[in-house]
Amino acid sequence: MGFKTDAIHAGQEPDPTTGAVTIPIYQTSTYVQEALGKHKGFEYARTQNPTRMALEKNMAVLERGVAAYAFASGMAAETAITHLLLKGGDHAICSDNVYGGTFRLFDKIVRHYGVDFSYVSTSNLADLKAAMRPNTRMLFIESPTNPIMAITDIRRASEIAHRTDCRVVVDNTFMSPYFQRPIELGADIVVHSATKYLNGHSDSVGGVVVLKRKDDAERLQFIQNAAGAILSPFDSWLVLRGIKTLPARMDAHNANGMEIAKYLLKKKQVKKVYYPGLPKHPGHGLAKKQMSGFGGMIAFELGSLARAKAFLGRVKLCSLAESLGGVETLISHPATMTHASVPAKERARLGITDGLVRISVGIEDVEDLIGDLENAFRG
Ligand SMILES: *Cc1c(COP(=O)(O)O)cnc(C)c1O
Repeated sequence: MGFKTDAIHAGQEPDPTTGAVTIPIYQTSTYVQEALGKHKGFEYARTQNPTRMALEKNMAVLERGVAAYAFASGMAAETAITHLLLKGGDHAICSDNVYGGTFRLFDKIVRHYGVDFSYVSTSNLADLKAAMRPNTRMLFIESPTNPIMAITDIRRASEIAHRTDCRVVVDNTFMSPYFQRPIELGADIVVHSATKYLNGHSDSVGGVVVLKRKDDAERLQFIQNAAGAILSPFDSWLVLRGIKTLPARMDAHNANGMEIAKYLLKKKQVKKVYYPGLPKHPGHGLAKKQMSGFGGMIAFELGSLARAKAFLGRVKLCSLAESLGGVETLISHPATMTHASVPAKERARLGITDGLVRISVGIEDVEDLIGDLENAFRG
């Protein structure tokens, strides 16, 4: 089936008892058993829940994996992956400008279990090659990165990592499986913050892990149940509902993103625009090859904290908020908001300056969004 058909139907047979077209929210903690050892495959809701399992089946199909597991947040999903892949004495490599929360998890928690992390620009394959060690067990890639939209060649990075016993994990939150499918490009595991484009309506927090290998999938299912950070039935239902319109929304984010990036490029107050759809973006050629759209995330440089602050104080339609991927446009200041946990020196090296502003372009009328930005520039 095509992607749009799968987004609506995969994993979602009409309810067998009532024929309900939409999978019900199975809000139960346990299931009655007919006799000792005789049940319908459902014993306890941390282990099995039909609403969550529908979402998991749906995501496995969309990301072309063998199985998927849904978690209470993107960070819970990433934590489960570290339980799957890493133990004391191992080494892991991570893209150097990953989501701030990912860096915090690896550096402030997982590292203390005796795992050594290297942060490298995975866009630079020579740097990646040089960082690989015999005991490297995980390569964690975010592409495009947050917020400066650097692109990593997932296929070639996977080839390099697979020369040793190393799994490749891709955080696909920014693109969603509609625009990029890392498993098809050679990755082993895909992780999502379902809070963002998958849900798409800024009304739930969740995470999903999709796996290519059956052995990894079995072990991750064990971890999901053993560690227990499952996605609730209601949140699973919200994400499933969101995914039905994922293709339509992503096309709209992409179209508006392109228009706004071009608009920003023409403003004299803007020193630099980071959007992979712009031909001048360093990863543009690669983005065109491994993604089928450029998405709705844009970062731009205003030159100073004072200018960024003034600009952010003047927007009205664009809401000043962390997070991204919802239908409404959100605008934020990475240095003091999403990336505040990254040390200042590291931020400077990554280009996350005090003058950098990030927009998660929504699907409103683009004229209204540009009008709002125009007012904010005029002051
Ligand atoms: C938000 C985000 C996460 C973390 O997800 P939560 O659902 O907030 O826990 C991870 N990676 C990226 C790229 C994100 O944007």
